[in-house]
Amino acid sequence: MGGTNPVYVQSMCNTDTRDVKATVRQILSLEKEGCEIIRVAVPDMAAAKAIGKIKRQIHIPLVADIHFDYLLALEAIRQGIDKVRINPGNIGSEEKVKAVVEACRKKKIPIRIGVNVGSLEKDLLAKYGSTPKAAVESCLRHVRILKKLNFKDILISIKFSDVKLMLEGYRMLSKKVNYPLHLGVTHAGTTFMGSIKNAIGIGTLLEEGIGATLRVSLTADPLEEVRVGWAILKALGLRKRGPELISCPTCGRTEIDLINLTKKVEKVLEKIDKPIKVAVMGCVVNGPGEAREADVGVAGGKGMGAIFAKGKVVKSVSEKEIIPALLKEIRKIVK
Ligand code: SF4
Repeated sequence: MGGTNPVYVQSMCNTDTRDVKATVRQILSLEKEGCEIIRVAVPDMAAAKAIGKIKRQIHIPLVADIHFDYLLALEAIRQGIDKVRINPGNIGSEEKVKAVVEACRKKKIPIRIGVNVGSLEKDLLAKYGSTPKAAVESCLRHVRILKKLNFKDILISIKFSDVKLMLEGYRMLSKKVNYPLHLGVTHAGTTFMGSIKNAIGIGTLLEEGIGATLRVSLTADPLEEVRVGWAILKALGLRKRGPELISCPTCGRTEIDLINLTKKVEKVLEKIDKPIKVAVMGCVVNGPGEAREADVGVAGGKGMGAIFAKGKVVKSVSEKEIIPALLKEIRKIVK
């Protein structure tokens, strides 16, 4: 992760990790949606012991989310976990930290330091308040502990629910460390506003070249997190996955039922996984231009549409023939 590698999309299960069947089922559907790294909560020993069984049934790297208890980390490592999210400064005695670090080193397992502005050390809060500076200082403390043990296989996240603070925190941190950063706006809310907050926070940083992995956190089905994560990467042109739909906002010039037509095209495209560009435009003013840029497109007229493929008008059809005609052209490309 990091460097010239692609930015990976991560999510977190909201199933009970001890319920292996439900957790595996959720991970497999997340995999289908494009999730590339998945994290599970490990709140007790039964959850830690379930990791091996989960791992054997999934195909993407599994991360254990552990707070405080080093024995849970050791068990997760024994069970074959791929990454541990634990803050070394919260583990306790040096022996306990060493035990986790040595177990990770032996199995080449990275550690993610995950600082959340909601749970900072008291002395840092007293000194800096609930600020990016306090969160960055907290990250550096955890990093120093690992550095002292000569452990460098580290990732860091520094999360805020406030987008501007999040941007400031990550920017500050990226100037101080060279480790891959895991991006996210935490507690971002429900799908609509949460997606906007994450898109601004994560998107801005990615555009500045900051970030190796991302998790869009939403109070929603984790499938939504993965969809939004990919949408951010696609919008920035950083990754390609599935079709891209370009459609106009409609205006007084629109003479076909473009909103419903676009919804239908979107549905059709859900079944295609090739990265093709499809344009659905309302009129001949901007329509043909965008439609020509796309692999396939339609520019609406009065109750009809001009179908474009690879930059050329292939035919004009009546409004109800638009979908089948578009599909025909799409199939020629994705066959
Ligand atoms: Fe209006 Fe045409 Fe632009 Fe669509 S493409 S918003 S119909 S001018």
